[in-house]
Amino acid sequence: MNLILMGLPGAGKGTQAERIIAEYNIPHISTGDMFRAAMANETALGLKAKSYMDNGDLVPDEVTNGIVKERLAESDTDKGFLLDGFPRTLDQAQALDAMMKDLGKEIDAVIEINVPEEILVDRLAGRYMCRDCGATYHKVFNPTKVEGTCDRCGGHDFYQREDDKPETVKNRLAVNVKSSEPILAYYKEKGLLQSIDGNREIDAVFADVKNIIE
Ligand code: ADP
Ligand code: ADP
Ligand code: ZN
Repeated sequence: MNLILMGLPGAGKGTQAERIIAEYNIPHISTGDMFRAAMANETALGLKAKSYMDNGDLVPDEVTNGIVKERLAESDTDKGFLLDGFPRTLDQAQALDAMMKDLGKEIDAVIEINVPEEILVDRLAGRYMCRDCGATYHKVFNPTKVEGTCDRCGGHDFYQREDDKPETVKNRLAVNVKSSEPILAYYKEKGLLQSIDGNREIDAVFADVKNIIE
């Protein structure tokens, strides 16, 4: 099963992705996570991505397409994969088609999580992350079970993403609204697009995701 998860920043892609990969045992390929890891390790890729990410802009397509191509060439993707946050431009969608063709594979479904923009602002403002394992929480909507302790790894070190600060969020949302419109049309035309209402409880959203996959 080769899946794409789409949605604006804060729509719940990462949160749903965690559940999808646990349930279906396929690798989670998040370009945002890959860029953040590269930045943390101060690699050449991380240095390239940093200025774009810090401003809420998209990293150039050639860089992004390159890392996805490398990742999809790894053999754990043979049982399927979940792309999260890629493609984000029409150029990326077309590059992905070429990669799929080379690999003799096809995308089975594109799941779009829909949430109104005004709600996304609150979701991003309250999002916090575990530094040890990358798990994502929300101060109000999805806190850790035990205050100050990560549900997943037991860690105690949390941080707010630099690009979730209010100065960056507005630009990020605008950039992503603009770039996502043509891709949604592209996948709709191919008959792959499945849109779900993401402005509900996490479990209710996941039930819809499962229905689509099954
Ligand atoms: P969110 O979870 O809030 O949707 P991501 O973690 O997916 O955000 O992405 C964070 C940042 O990483 C983006 O604002 C952008 O700078 C960069 N990025 C991630 N995926 C892509 C992509 N497919 N194309 C270009 N830039 C990307
Ligand atoms: P994305 O990867 O699309 O940027 P996240 O999965 O990181 O989105 O979710 C953004 C924020 O909203 C996080 O703080 C997360 O805990 C919270 N969140 C995710 N899904 C929901 C939901 N259905 N209802 C309320 N809050 C949610
Ligand atoms: Zn953790």
